[in-house]
Amino acid sequence: MTDRSTSPDVAATPFDAWLTSDAEVADLLRAEAGRQSTTLQLIASENFTSTAVLAATGSVLTNKYSEGYPGRRYYGGNRIIDEVEELARERAKALFGAEHANVQPHAGANANLAAYQALLEPGDTILAMRLDQGGHLTHGSPASITSKIWRFVAYGVTPASDDPARPGEVIDFDEVADVAKRERPKLIVAGATAYPRLIEPEPFREIADSVGAKLMFDIAHPAGLVAGGAHPNPVAVADVVTFTTHKTLRGPRGGAILCRAELAKAIDSAVFPGLQGGPLEHVIAAKAVAFGEAALPSFRQYAAAVVANARALARGLAAEGFRLVSGGTDNHLILIDLRTFDEELTGKEAQEVLDRSGITLNRNTIPDDQRSAFVTSGLRLGTAAQTTAGMGEPEMAEIAALIGLALRERTDEGVLETVRHSVRALCDRFPPYPGLSGLGAGPVGAAGGRGS
Ligand SMILES: *Cc1c(COP(=O)(O)O)cnc(C)c1O
Repeated sequence: MTDRSTSPDVAATPFDAWLTSDAEVADLLRAEAGRQSTTLQLIASENFTSTAVLAATGSVLTNKYSEGYPGRRYYGGNRIIDEVEELARERAKALFGAEHANVQPHAGANANLAAYQALLEPGDTILAMRLDQGGHLTHGSPASITSKIWRFVAYGVTPASDDPARPGEVIDFDEVADVAKRERPKLIVAGATAYPRLIEPEPFREIADSVGAKLMFDIAHPAGLVAGGAHPNPVAVADVVTFTTHKTLRGPRGGAILCRAELAKAIDSAVFPGLQGGPLEHVIAAKAVAFGEAALPSFRQYAAAVVANARALARGLAAEGFRLVSGGTDNHLILIDLRTFDEELTGKEAQEVLDRSGITLNRNTIPDDQRSAFVTSGLRLGTAAQTTAGMGEPEMAEIAALIGLALRERTDEGVLETVRHSVRALCDRFPPYPGLSGLGAGPVGAAGGRGS
């Protein structure tokens, strides 16, 4: 069973007092709420939603079947559901400046599968980013259904460079153009899962146009930065934009698709009935809440703080002796090359040592990694979650120092114990859900006590 010895009395949902009929699940939820509030959440794809998002996700909308779209449902009783989904669609369109939005994809992977299905025939060629250099599983991993349906070719990043004026490990647009000319893809995919730099959509558009390909931009990671004005918005440039709602965008776990009006029908029928059955309207309500929150001026400050914090964390890590892939970051995430810090230290071991020290992040391949994807020579960290909890640049400096200390002294249990205590003290100063502390807390107000 889970170790709950370090769990404080933390409520796990706004309706915690109602979860009385199942002590086993209630215990697990509280243990996880405790874990999230007493250890550092540095996984680049995670965040802390508002209590309003939690509340919508835990609502009666989960009871309703609503196959179809607003105004065209297959079941009765969808008058209010239609308003919910319409609200989510309108807010998504307004937030990103899109002509059409589909808010039904259950996840980012589903959004990508639906987009491919809308734009392509089976067997068509897709040009996307190489997986070990930042691409996502749905960009053509041999283990993903995408590579069994479509033929993938890849581009990558430029070689590493020591010249600060010409940083390496950035998208190699010469390669994108060369492979596009040679392979004649029907679709080019921009976007990545482990890339610490801004991605401009225009160079991709030019290359796509030169070979008659469509352009899809997968902003699963930076969607919140795009909404908050801290990353270029590809909506006016790409044919289709897919994203997740739970990463930097800080909404419920889910996906969405934006496109021009002429592609609306193809996208909608690719999602339903092409890929999914009934939509998760409770999650769609929570997406509407998140889109509403992301349209507030405070979210622009949040997005800027996420990037400023990532820069501060990057500076601190560089000072600890870590080489940063591409030399730093200009988004929410950092990719560490562990080899200069300690040639023996793998991503796998570093992740495990830090996990025991209360620092949660993930190992990741780095460009031209000699180790397998299971072992790796890198770590990926992000600042979206702890920025939501209210941490700033001084805390990022402290976190960098704790990571350096734990990894340097990784065989010394006493040192790891000290790090764990410092992490706990830091987390106690920035609780992700201040409105939910204490068991039996009743439902709390909308954005109740968000940091930043
Ligand atoms: C996270 C991610 C996805 C998939 O999102 P899921 O919700 O996990 O299915 C797709 N593309 C990219 C680039 C991602 O980073």
